[in-house]
Amino acid sequence: MTDKLTARNWQTEAALRMLRNNLDPAVAERGEDLVVYGGTGKAARDWPSYHAIERSLTTLAEDETLLVQSGKPVGVLRTHEWAPRVLLANSNLVGDWATWPEFRRLESLGLTMYGQMTAGSWIYIGTQGILQGTYETFAEVARKRFGGSLAGTLTITAGLGGMGGAQPLAVTMNGGTALVIECDRQRALRRIETRYLDELASDVDDAIARVTDAKRLRRALSVGLIGNAAEVLPELLRRGVEADIVTDQTSAHDPLAYLPVGVDVEDWHDYAAKKPDEFTDRSRDSMAEHVDAMIGFLDGGAEVFDYGNSLRGEAKLGGCERAFDFPGFVPAYIRPLFCEGKGPFRWVALSGDPADIAATDRAILDLFGEDEALARWIKLAGERVAFQGLPARICWLGYGQRHLAGLRFNEMVASGELSAPVVIGRDHLDAGSVASPYRETEGMADGSDAIADWPLLNALVNTASGATWVSIHHGGGVGMGRSIHAGQVCVADGSELAARKIERVLTNDPAMGVIRHVDAGYERAAEVAAERGVRIPMRED
Ligand code: NAD
Repeated sequence: MTDKLTARNWQTEAALRMLRNNLDPAVAERGEDLVVYGGTGKAARDWPSYHAIERSLTTLAEDETLLVQSGKPVGVLRTHEWAPRVLLANSNLVGDWATWPEFRRLESLGLTMYGQMTAGSWIYIGTQGILQGTYETFAEVARKRFGGSLAGTLTITAGLGGMGGAQPLAVTMNGGTALVIECDRQRALRRIETRYLDELASDVDDAIARVTDAKRLRRALSVGLIGNAAEVLPELLRRGVEADIVTDQTSAHDPLAYLPVGVDVEDWHDYAAKKPDEFTDRSRDSMAEHVDAMIGFLDGGAEVFDYGNSLRGEAKLGGCERAFDFPGFVPAYIRPLFCEGKGPFRWVALSGDPADIAATDRAILDLFGEDEALARWIKLAGERVAFQGLPARICWLGYGQRHLAGLRFNEMVASGELSAPVVIGRDHLDAGSVASPYRETEGMADGSDAIADWPLLNALVNTASGATWVSIHHGGGVGMGRSIHAGQVCVADGSELAARKIERVLTNDPAMGVIRHVDAGYERAAEVAAERGVRIPMRED
């Protein structure tokens, strides 16, 4: 792979390599269908579109911009060298039309695709991306309820897909025991191969025995169990299994991607495609049973939270009255970090050489080593994370930090310390880039949960600041009608121009997180703005 260009410059070469990386068999859940992760999150609309994107990126000049409309390249425009090389808009629908049935109707006509968050914006880095967020979340649960460590606790959850596969490792990295229910054996085996999951139980009895033992011995262990969560979780509740933490990461945001009780995995996709309405009703009924069991554990004193997949919303539609008795993970654990502009900062070595990531890890420790949790994560990630596709790293950095990391990486490219340029991006799940009332903006202090001006401003700010590609999506994470979010990626190619762009983008992008939370009335955000110099006109005389 190395430092040989197939495109005309590193900015477009980076987009090309990241598009291909999203579909690398080691990264994508179903690359042959262009599906990267999150149920049906795609990197391009269809194969002709994919090839046309490749062709355009290969020939694009330094003052041109490629427009991508829901995974299809629709135009190349003359812009300027500070402008993004690619602008993407994925899955966006006008409010009243923003439903799954309407989306699917349009999709079947070949007019749109589901971009999830980083699938359609070419900055998915495999399960590591979510691993860090999940690690942070469980670390916060540990701090809040269990004295700082999960040792001696049992977490029960479901879903071992692209995102959910991070759960077992995040729990064991925090010292805990995990039991993860997954209906598709192949998914579970894949997590064993990548060392995210330790063991697979043969049946429910075996699973209970293994995790009860591990919990008693305070052993960090993760056990997978093949079964339907809507059946197995109520069974575990009936049997009195002592869970301390219960959550879920099945693809509940899309009722067709959640397996209803009584349907075999082999019949799943055929049935969902042929009878989507009937399938949706059955999957919502099952989700209601699933959530009923979670509420049973809540009533028993467990820490229960929705892990950003809209399970509560779907269960409510399935008739579960108490679906919203437990909180989403953002208000429960993540919002204080968002107030500092902190979020999932990530970077990828375009060289394909793991040594480049090892060097950037050292640079991060050098810059921010005094932050203990961050240092522990970087060390553990270096030891335990198997790269998927291009070597990559993620860590949560805030306002005033991200640009320092970006500038350091750019210097390392310029000096030859890194063997090729690095791309720097983030998840759309970030401090100031998403409106999602069931997840990132649930329960905002001023009630502004559904205000979607913020992600649009975020995309405009990143476009104005010099990002290399910028995207606006709808429906990621929690499904159609429930979220609008934006992404950005910059390329550190070692040039002086890249340094100037990186400095602005990686300052202004997290600033949007601080600004959004000051505006919503969070005191911590106001302190951060005052301490670190983020200008807020309504607070100036
Ligand atoms: P995925 O489709 O790759 O995996 C979902 C898994 O759930 C699959 O392996 C599937 O077999 C399994 N599953 C479905 N129904 C089941 C059932 N009834 N019982 C047991 N297993 C079942 O999706 P993913 O990428 O892992 O994402 C999972 C969910 O998390 C999605 O809804 C996604 O939108 C959401 N998500 C959350 C975050 C976050 O930060 N918390 C971030 C991104 C996505």
